[in-house]
Amino acid sequence: MKMTVIGSMGAYPSPDNPSSGYLLQHDGFSMMLDFGSAVLINLHKYMALHTLDAVFFSHYHHDHTADIGVMQHLIKVQTDLGNRVSVLSLYGQGDKPFFEKLTYHKYTESRAVASGKQEVIGPFICEFLDNPHPDGSLAIKVTAEGRSLVYTGDTGWNDELVFFASGCDLLLCESSLFNRFKGMVDGHLTAGEAGILARKAGVKQLALCHFPHFGKVEDLLSEAAAEYKGILNIALPGQVYNLP
Ligand SMILES: [Zn+2]
Ligand SMILES: [Zn+2]
Repeated sequence: MKMTVIGSMGAYPSPDNPSSGYLLQHDGFSMMLDFGSAVLINLHKYMALHTLDAVFFSHYHHDHTADIGVMQHLIKVQTDLGNRVSVLSLYGQGDKPFFEKLTYHKYTESRAVASGKQEVIGPFICEFLDNPHPDGSLAIKVTAEGRSLVYTGDTGWNDELVFFASGCDLLLCESSLFNRFKGMVDGHLTAGEAGILARKAGVKQLALCHFPHFGKVEDLLSEAAAEYKGILNIALPGQVYNLP
């Protein structure tokens, strides 16, 4: 399994970093985790967009969904041109109004997923966990050939994430906040909490994502490093994580 960071900013894109979008590839299958603002233009660098097989949405806030409407246009145009025959499957929480928008004529179809349920998406076995975040959010664990990646999506502290992420090969964890904001913003983690989660879950590698628009990402790294002594890095666009 290979994961390429397409975008990792929180809230809105910066000039050189889209908001959330992560490309998972294995056995010729390509799936995006979230599809935020400026993801589509950056994704052009890494694959032929009309060959994308699936998208999972952690939740429907704009910084995780903003480009899916134009992606639906792309799928329509490329299908009508004869370059694509299959429907693009879009996975997310089924009990939210935005879910209805995931079905677009014959070109894309909505697929509901939920905490505690397992879904096989191409070569990936996927599990989900409800997270505390305004309007709700799902973490996803993706397993292929014995390797696993957990993406938290947006979340406040959740004890259940410790078990959910236990022993995974890569934890892609939101770290929206510097430690000094702990307890001041609902539904997001500090970098220190991301480190604590990684340590308690015994993950093999921690990658921080969903960054704030002020301060230095290096400070997020050092705050997480104070809690987690394993392999730790910042998920920036173009960075590739191979989980062989
Ligand atoms: Zn977000
Ligand atoms: Zn959010």
